[in-house]
Amino acid sequence: MPDRMLKFVHLAQQMPNKRDLAARRSDFNEIYERFDRKAAAAQASRCSQCGVPFCSVHCPLHNNIPDWLKLTAEGRLEEAYALSSATNNFPEICGRICPQDRLCEGNCVIEKGYESVTIGAVERFITDTAFAEGWVAPRRPAHELGLSVGIIGAGPAGLAAAEELRARGYTVHVYDRHDRIGGLMIYGIPNFKLEKEIVLRRSQLLTEAGVQFHTNIAIGRDISFAELRARHAALLIATGVYQPREIAGPGSGIPGIVPALDYLIAANRKGLGDDVPAFDSGDLNAAGKRVVVIGGGDTAMDCVRTAVRQGARSVQCLYRRDRANMPGSLREVKNAEEEGVEFVWLSAPEAFLGDERVRGVRAVRMRLGLPDASGRQSVEPVEESHFTVPADLVIKALGFDPEPLPAMFDEPGLEVTRHGTLRISPRAFMTSLSGVFAAGDIVRGASLVVWAIRDGRDAAARIHAWLGQQASLREAAE
Ligand code: FAD
Ligand code: SF4
Ligand code: SF4
Repeated sequence: MPDRMLKFVHLAQQMPNKRDLAARRSDFNEIYERFDRKAAAAQASRCSQCGVPFCSVHCPLHNNIPDWLKLTAEGRLEEAYALSSATNNFPEICGRICPQDRLCEGNCVIEKGYESVTIGAVERFITDTAFAEGWVAPRRPAHELGLSVGIIGAGPAGLAAAEELRARGYTVHVYDRHDRIGGLMIYGIPNFKLEKEIVLRRSQLLTEAGVQFHTNIAIGRDISFAELRARHAALLIATGVYQPREIAGPGSGIPGIVPALDYLIAANRKGLGDDVPAFDSGDLNAAGKRVVVIGGGDTAMDCVRTAVRQGARSVQCLYRRDRANMPGSLREVKNAEEEGVEFVWLSAPEAFLGDERVRGVRAVRMRLGLPDASGRQSVEPVEESHFTVPADLVIKALGFDPEPLPAMFDEPGLEVTRHGTLRISPRAFMTSLSGVFAAGDIVRGASLVVWAIRDGRDAAARIHAWLGQQASLREAAE
């Protein structure tokens, strides 16, 4: 064991500093400062180099964490980058936005009583350094295979697959209905978690590698799915999940009650310098308003923290369970609380008040019951416990379901599960249609960027294997 490691006994866990709170609340820049080389090496050296590294086991990409921590501790950053990028297409993105407390760091078994290694911050540091030093190059293929693969959706699943397939020599065409590449990494996740530049430089690299992007093209509207199938030797569907879950109840249609993604897309577009009439008119802008966000996931956290930065008069988050049972990352809840968000736990909306515009939310207190199938405690309303929260803008952040793809693509043979997600054969990643594969949220339901990357990589490997088999079958038949 090199004496550079195992420093956890003497060296406390140290996350990168957060920026000054007043500055954080008034701009959209990332809130964490960056490690310098010394701090990154010191934090990496806390790792005890476990023989069975549970951090890697619980990383969806099974990143080779102990090895790149050791290389970082030794100052061998170019090698650390090579190792880290071998299993992850976008390590600097995962280092920023993975819920590490539930994945790698939450399973770091450094030693009882000691806090985990700051794996995400080191991962981010390694690749940020690699970009600064010019070590990150486009992955151009050594030879062209002369076969084309079409990918629907330029989110992390589609992009990871595109990079892997292009590196193997395929001609790769990615279609997206948005005008920018990145999926929810551009239009969902706010700048204060993931600055847009970080995503844009990745799309630039993919373009330089030869991936061909076709933006502002919705499959099923601008090009038919059947036509796309005919154009390419194989197709990957990586369209994500976008149908917002609705809130029922009296008054739920009153103006001023808006879906979370409409609100976040407007904020992200404004930050990117676009013209956004619904933001300028005030419909999707929290400035000066009493904002109530309904939901307890990552999307809700992004909405409350965006509203703070837009200059809301007050920001409250209504969630029907308590802090311990919420699906969002606890780190994000803490960040939101620091920034002035008030959480109203164990509260569910029953009705919305107002005529021309929303004036308030009538809510009821909830109590926790027994755990449900997901392991979280169920909830039930407390009698006679109604109360009213004043609101000028209500943001609904209750999660997303898949859009009805078989109908959108006019392809009834595309099988879906009872949740509306695409049914694939788990080993082959193929849908019910021959040569049509699927990956990311459209298969898993709303999930995480790191899982989308994992699925994109796996799907690319299966597409490559399937196309190889098809070629062998053709050769045998000739
Ligand atoms: P997406 O990223 O949704 O990309 C799908 C792409 O397909 C989109 O660009 C869409 O325009 C395109 N598309 C859809 N239909 C068509 C069509 N018919 N024709 C052409 N193009 C089409 N995950 C984390 O790990 N950490 C976080 O902090 C985090 N925060 C989040 C915050 C918010 C507000 C949201 C909504 C999600 C967050 N997530 C987070 C989840 C994460 O963003 C998703 O799990 C991930 O982006 C899924 O990747 P994907 O490639 O499957 O789909
Ligand atoms: Fe942790 Fe995510 Fe990086 Fe894996 S990809 S090591 S889970 S931050
Ligand atoms: Fe190092 Fe923690 Fe992973 Fe063990 S679990 S190898 S201590 S980061």
